[in-house]
Amino acid sequence: VLTAMQAHLDLFAAAAQRRAEDVVQVVGAALVDGDRVLVARRGSGGLAGKWEFPGGKVERGESELAALVRECQEELAVDITPQAFLGEVPLPGVVAGGEPGASTLRVWWGRITGGVLVAHEHSEVRWVTAGELEDLDWIPADRPLLPAVRALLARL
Ligand code: C5P
Repeated sequence: VLTAMQAHLDLFAAAAQRRAEDVVQVVGAALVDGDRVLVARRGSGGLAGKWEFPGGKVERGESELAALVRECQEELAVDITPQAFLGEVPLPGVVAGGEPGASTLRVWWGRITGGVLVAHEHSEVRWVTAGELEDLDWIPADRPLLPAVRALLARL
């Protein structure tokens, strides 16, 4: 009986390990300056032309905030300082071989603290007010986060 239990536990541990490696975490930055937030239009791929909060995949062994800082440097040539966690949404499409919902997009409020903004990967970047957010053609994943961003802009 103990051997059977051990085998069962080993299988469980292996499955958990596989799940952890399959999960792709994505981070996004709501970069705020005054009463505006930076939005970026995807330049290529299936979501080309749609607006998003800049960001991308957390690499294996990398912390979420390190990924956020790295992605903003790569995509926008700016140094950012994360301020607070804003919210998260499931990202069913991003998981490779995993279960829907295992992956999430986690968005942080941040401020630009250095560098000069250049859109290296997006076709366009724009500073928008709370009232302009809703009408942009968002990639589906990011739209549920808009109320949290609006609430942030309203209290700053
Ligand atoms: O930017 P990148 O292509 O590295 O992002 C990886 C994936 O994460 C995208 O294909 C997109 O589905 C998702 N993503 C998102 N919202 C963002 C940034 C990325 O849903 N703000």
